[in-house]
Amino acid sequence: MKKERVLITGAAGFLGSHLSDRFLKEGFHVIGMDNLLTGNINNISHLFPREDFEFHHHDVSKFVHVPGDLKYILHFASPASPIDYLKMPIQTMKVGSLGTLNLLGLAKAKNARMLIASTSEVYGDPHVHPQTEEYWGNVNPIGPRGVYDEAKRFQEAITMAYHRFHQLETRIIRIFNTYGPRMRLDDGRALPTFMSQALRGEDITVFGDGSQTRSFCFVDDLVDGIYKLLLSDYALPVNIGNPSEITIKEFADEVVALTGSRSKVIYEPLPTDDPQQRRPDISKAQSILGWEPKVSRSEGLKITLDYFKALPEFNS
Ligand code: UDP
Repeated sequence: MKKERVLITGAAGFLGSHLSDRFLKEGFHVIGMDNLLTGNINNISHLFPREDFEFHHHDVSKFVHVPGDLKYILHFASPASPIDYLKMPIQTMKVGSLGTLNLLGLAKAKNARMLIASTSEVYGDPHVHPQTEEYWGNVNPIGPRGVYDEAKRFQEAITMAYHRFHQLETRIIRIFNTYGPRMRLDDGRALPTFMSQALRGEDITVFGDGSQTRSFCFVDDLVDGIYKLLLSDYALPVNIGNPSEITIKEFADEVVALTGSRSKVIYEPLPTDDPQQRRPDISKAQSILGWEPKVSRSEGLKITLDYFKALPEFNS
């Protein structure tokens, strides 16, 4: 029987590569697309020998052509860390806006269902805690994070426009902080930074006084939530994340303890517009998708540490 075909953009990235694995496991033919700006081909090199996987090296901000049928499109291409937005502000805006527009057009032409990767960043530095999907957010449009936040807000708006105006089948996931194997070591995010600092015995750089909070979700749980949302019939945004909230200082201490490192925490200035608190309200995911995270932070951190420890960077 012919396999159903799914297009995954950002397929060489952290989330895109895990999604590619999952959809292959579910029996789909996966078309992975990436311009390799922040993606890493090593994340998907194990898939190249497979006949049910193909890779297109392409920037989705330019017209996207995919021959043949498509059942689903998952748009996961984007720089995705505050350091990346500073380095690539225009590309970040283009992939969220022009890229999304191109892919919505493709979805319409193929009669495909499209899922977009939105983000807790649409809530900005939130005044509502924990964040529910009904909250409209507190975003600074012209700050350094604005290029990402506003591109994602535009992405949600245009996706709903295609849904309402063209009756396109669309799904919107708001992704909260997620971690796991294949995170980029040098993307400036808290977890890979803390782990590599701890493994090298360097100081751990906590920004601000470390009292800001985040809630970290293990990647396998997130992928499961994405899969469930895609297959559901719910078109409004759904938060997917782990509600277990922790301060960044406590998080740094956990990483140091896990690695057994003698690194000490040092404090550096808080980046502009760094949200003070973040925790998803996941009632919608629980009631609509029957989803909730299963992997505890201690389990997930161990798996992630094993991945980092095995990298050539730590074995020379
Ligand atoms: N952070 C930190 N030290 C670092 C990197 C990040 O203290 O070396 C802080 C950052 O300021 C933020 C939190 O950790 O408050 C999470 O940062 P990350 O970049 O992982 O995610 P985001 O800010 O997008 O939630």
